[in-house]
Amino acid sequence: MKCKRCKAPAVVALPSHNTGFCPDCFDLFFTRQVERGIHSEKLFTHEDRILIALSGGKDSLACALVLKRLGYNVTGLHIDLSIPNSSQAARGTVESFCSENGIPLIVKEMAQEGLAIPDVKKRLNRPICSACGKIKRYYFNKTALDENFTVLATGHNLDDEIARLFSNVLRWDVGYLSDQGPLLEADSGFARKVKPLFRLSEYETANWSYLQGIPYHYAPCPYSQGASFTSYKKLWADLEEEMPGRKLAFYLGFLERGKAPFVRQEAVTGDTLAPCTSCGYPTSAEVCGVCRIRDAVAQQD
Ligand code: SF4
Ligand code: ZN
Repeated sequence: MKCKRCKAPAVVALPSHNTGFCPDCFDLFFTRQVERGIHSEKLFTHEDRILIALSGGKDSLACALVLKRLGYNVTGLHIDLSIPNSSQAARGTVESFCSENGIPLIVKEMAQEGLAIPDVKKRLNRPICSACGKIKRYYFNKTALDENFTVLATGHNLDDEIARLFSNVLRWDVGYLSDQGPLLEADSGFARKVKPLFRLSEYETANWSYLQGIPYHYAPCPYSQGASFTSYKKLWADLEEEMPGRKLAFYLGFLERGKAPFVRQEAVTGDTLAPCTSCGYPTSAEVCGVCRIRDAVAQQD
C-alpha cells in the first residue's frame, strides 16, 4: 500500500479512514486529528495552563508529547502509588520522558499522603481498583485546583470513550452519560477536564507512540484484574472491521445529539454535593471517600 498523501510506502493502514500513511504523513494525520478535536469541542487554547495526568502508559505520554509539540503550556502530573514491582518503573519512565521533552513534572507520592495502595488494599475488603481510581481522580483534581491549572487533561482515546459510552447506554445510566465526552466544564470544586485524544483509536495512538519512539511503561500492575471494558472493546473491534469508521461516527453522533437531554448524576440520585468537612472536596457524604480511606488506613497502623 502507498501513502495516500505522498505515495511513499505506507507503514500504517487506516481502514476507518479508508487510507494508509508513511511515518511522516501519519504524524501529520495524528496531529491534525488532535488539533481538530481541540478546536471543534473548544477544549482549551494556548492561554490555558494544562495539567496532564501521566501514568507512564503510551496514551498519556502520547497526549503530552503532541500537545507540547503543538505549543500548548503543559505540565505533567504523576501519582506514585507505591505499588511494589510497578510504581518505581512507571515513575522512572515518566520522569525521563518529561526531562527529555522539556515538560515540567509534579509527582504526588501516595505513601506521603497516608494512601500507599498496598496499605489501602490491606484495609479494604473489596477489589482495590475502584479505591485506587478514586484516589487518583481526587489527586488529579486537587492538584489542578491547588496549583491554579485551568485545565486537567487525560490520555483517554476513542476506544476508551466508546467502551464507556456503550456500557452506560446498555444500562441506560443517564446520569453518567451527561458526564461523558471530551470536555467536562469546571464546576464548584471540580477542575475543567479534557480528553484531547478522543478522535484517535488505541491502534492509531499505539502506532504513533511507536513511530515517535516513546518509551512507555507496560508492565501490568500486580493488582490488575484485567483491562476495563475488555469485552466491549472486542465487540467494537469486530463492528469496526465490518463497518470501518463506525466507532468515530457513533461517538461524534452522541456528542452532536445525545448529550443535551441527559441530566447530571446528582439529579438522578438526588444527591447534593457539599465540601468534605475534612478536606473540602465535593462529596455527597459529610466526609469524602478519600478522607474515609485515609482514616481507615491510619487506624490500622
Ligand atoms: Fe490501581 Fe488497579 Fe490500576 Fe493497579 S490496576 S494501578 S490497583 S487501578
Ligand atoms: Zn475529604
